[in-house]
Amino acid sequence: MDQYRLPRVLVFPLPAQGPVNSMLKLAELLTLQGLHVTFLNTPSIHHRLLLHTDVQARFSDYPGFLFKTISDGLPQDHPRSGDSVMEVIRSINTNSKSIFKHMLASDELGSESSPSVTCMIVDGIFGGFATDVAEELQIPIIHFRTLSACCIWVNMSIPNVIEAGELPIRGNEDMDRLIKTAPGMESFLRCRDLPSFCRVSDVQTDPNLQVFVQQTLQSPRAQAIILNTFEDLEGPILSHIRTLCPKIYSIGPLHEHHKLRLAKKEASQFSNSLFEEDRSCMAWLDAQPSKSVIYVSFGSITVITRDQLIEFWYGLVNSKARFLWVARPDLVAGEGQIPAELLEETRERGYIVGWAPQEDVLGHKAVGGFLTHSGWNSTLESIVAGVPMICWPYFADQQVNSRFVSEVWKLGMDMKDVCDRKVVERMVNDLMVERKEEFQKVAEEMSTLAMTSLHEGGSSYSNLDLLIEDISNGRL
Ligand code: UDP
Repeated sequence: MDQYRLPRVLVFPLPAQGPVNSMLKLAELLTLQGLHVTFLNTPSIHHRLLLHTDVQARFSDYPGFLFKTISDGLPQDHPRSGDSVMEVIRSINTNSKSIFKHMLASDELGSESSPSVTCMIVDGIFGGFATDVAEELQIPIIHFRTLSACCIWVNMSIPNVIEAGELPIRGNEDMDRLIKTAPGMESFLRCRDLPSFCRVSDVQTDPNLQVFVQQTLQSPRAQAIILNTFEDLEGPILSHIRTLCPKIYSIGPLHEHHKLRLAKKEASQFSNSLFEEDRSCMAWLDAQPSKSVIYVSFGSITVITRDQLIEFWYGLVNSKARFLWVARPDLVAGEGQIPAELLEETRERGYIVGWAPQEDVLGHKAVGGFLTHSGWNSTLESIVAGVPMICWPYFADQQVNSRFVSEVWKLGMDMKDVCDRKVVERMVNDLMVERKEEFQKVAEEMSTLAMTSLHEGGSSYSNLDLLIEDISNGRL
């Protein structure tokens, strides 16, 4: 084979923890199959990745793997954290098209043996400008959606929901009103379960809602889409999406898929963390009884108020459950950390870290529940580990995910729009004591289905093989 015709795949994630983590895992899986891969990241995220992980050394073992960076167009001192991730997305969508096209056209993203990008896998949130460039340069493009299929389908339905007059939500309206124009969800999707960006008065021009919906509507332009999900979890919703995007590779849960396939080659596991992990909590977990600990984490972006922090804290303390809490340095708006006097009260039953090795924590035998913000990666990690959830969604897709966790999959409870110590206490007691067996049973069954999809003959396993074959043979 002419070495100059070796395929090179460009992988370009949304620059935030969840997407970087899952798309870097996909990049590694492609690399393991001998494909040449370029991972395109913003300089600030790339810097954090190098700071907190050994990715540089790890990927240097792969011939043909390259890290490259592209500016997000924001000033150097921009916070790029918390809610401002939406500004990063809008800035890249507005400013990056010409530089992106130039990088591709001038072979800046390739190496000597595979100078040209022959296929792009781009986060679907950049679907508009990246697909324009792909069409102009005639490079096949796949949109990787790091959200749940259920949220993607809600996004695709939102123009109909608006057209039918079900949005905007009017002031003082009953948030429990059912939405009737999102096909397949008529009996359970309420106003409060729509993506958070729908809670605006001007649904035609709100910039966050526009990005969220308009970029999703670009997906049918791509040659295919990749979803981090599995058929037994979201099959009915995937069928709806396939009416608009027939070629879908559902290859999740990707974190576990990565672990299983990598284990064939190398035994150890690696971190793609953008924060400094505190592994001391693993020893603390070792000393706790089986399924006695509720793990509390709101992901990498959520910001809570001091009042909310206090409600969660007293709810947990009053529940008498043991808990492991991730308190990122920037978790609480303006105020910093959990007050020392509160910490003192719970030294026995609580353990606090700034950032946890979450997959390991959820897989630990002492963990019996997860109080989560319902980010999609956290939800999948909990499903694989067979850990039931209490959902307190913060923004974007999380409102949809939490409704599916509680109402469709019956994997836990949804606490959205409430932050009250009595409710926290009651739900923690339900999850960890009163209804423990009921939730545990469903969670274990779903975990088994997830694992089955990842082994030979399973849907995600076969879909990943197909994706690799299709890329390698230029069949997109
Ligand atoms: N995570 C982690 N340690 C923590 C908290 C989170 O490693 O202490 C990881 C978690 O395993 C997941 C990601 O960060 O892979 C968060 O992604 P998710 O989609 O759940 O939420 P987001 O941060 O995007 O809101």
